[in-house]
Amino acid sequence: TKTIAGVRAERLDRLALREAKRFASGRPHSAAAMLAGSGVFLNGVPMHWMTDWPMPHLPLVASAKGARITDIDGYEIDDFCLGDTGSMFGHSPKAVVKAIRHQAKHGLTYMLPTEDALEAGRLLTQVFGDFRWQIATTATDANRFALRVARAVTGRAKVLVFNGCYHGTVDDTMVELRAGRTEPRAGLVGQVQDLTKGAVACEFNDLAGVEAALKTGEIAAVLTEPVMTNSCMVLPEAGFLDGLRSLTRRYGALLVIDETHTLSTGLGGYTGVHGLAPDMFVVGKCVAGGMPTAVWGMTPDIAARFQRYDAGREAGHSGMGTTLSANPMQFACLRATLSEVMTAKNYARMDKGAARLVAGLTAAIEKHKAPWHALRVGARVEFICAKGPLKNGTEAAAAHQPAIEAALHTALLNRGCLIAPFHNMMLVSPATTKRQIDRLIAAFDEILTDLFE
Ligand code: PMP
Repeated sequence: TKTIAGVRAERLDRLALREAKRFASGRPHSAAAMLAGSGVFLNGVPMHWMTDWPMPHLPLVASAKGARITDIDGYEIDDFCLGDTGSMFGHSPKAVVKAIRHQAKHGLTYMLPTEDALEAGRLLTQVFGDFRWQIATTATDANRFALRVARAVTGRAKVLVFNGCYHGTVDDTMVELRAGRTEPRAGLVGQVQDLTKGAVACEFNDLAGVEAALKTGEIAAVLTEPVMTNSCMVLPEAGFLDGLRSLTRRYGALLVIDETHTLSTGLGGYTGVHGLAPDMFVVGKCVAGGMPTAVWGMTPDIAARFQRYDAGREAGHSGMGTTLSANPMQFACLRATLSEVMTAKNYARMDKGAARLVAGLTAAIEKHKAPWHALRVGARVEFICAKGPLKNGTEAAAAHQPAIEAALHTALLNRGCLIAPFHNMMLVSPATTKRQIDRLIAAFDEILTDLFE
């Protein structure tokens, strides 16, 4: 009989069918509302990623608070997706709600700073280190602008990224390795540029490959997450991140660390917890507690180099910044998040909960002798339908099991647990309770019983 990741195909089919039926029959209000109202949207969704959820139709959310979502059919859902990191500190943290209420009466955007802006800047440096900061609205934009500065100060064309990476919808990073060559990523819509002129892909954990690319002298920056989180999670091997730092220094390229997901690690992100020394630092998504905000910063040394470049360049549009960025609402929420939400105490809670979750998932995987594994980076937990550890993006892509994952995600939601689509990622917020974690572990165990026993 055919098996996928240790699961017999007919068992998987049976589970997928049963869970899809159960979902569809249990949510008549969402189904009817979507049928009546979603036709005005392209592909029936307000943002096309929403078609990637595996359920027969989307549930409409009535409200969310802490680590719980309530849908219009009245289901209370334990939320481990948490807006895939945008709400990693829980939905509507109290301090952020208060900041929004206050700022709402004082204007939403004015192209001028506030006192909150200065305080947020001070807090950014206190939490993340000595960088010269800029505010953007999405991590995508923050990465794009960071790459512009890297190219400007080095005068070099290419960014080095890792095969299987994701840094937002930044065209410059949309490349992958195919048969050892950098190629534009499959599936890009409307892409007409030759992306290989501005980017090189290497495998994560391959310092020799990185050095070979750096030796060409064409690389302006290495842009990476400290842990690959956007395929199946890949941890850096001992010495890899140190090696990246020393190689980039040796060959005059900047090291840009994208902490958008690894902010889960602890206070100051992976950079703070593990003492990395990037030239540029990027973080978005939950940095302002869910208010669309991203920040990017460069060391004082890079800032000085950029100022020299800036003073000498031709007048004209920089290609950086967007009109609504650095608005007073972002600063109010940044300040509130950095001072009252992103605290050591909250991280300790998240860490403890995530440790409980990964231990429970691992125990279930072992109990059912599934050839799978689970791992975590602080508050970020993932189960992977393959043995680990994974070494790089190629192995991570091979470990991805869309059919199993789709059935499992729907089955989890039928048991009251929402996890991130695209991958098997679960986040533990400060508001997530032990009961919610245990319910997720029990649901996972029950589904694995169906798949394996
Ligand atoms: N960097 C990383 C590491 C990400 O995972 C993502 C989004 N998943 C981004 C940047 C882009 O964030 P956004 O979609 O908010 O622009």
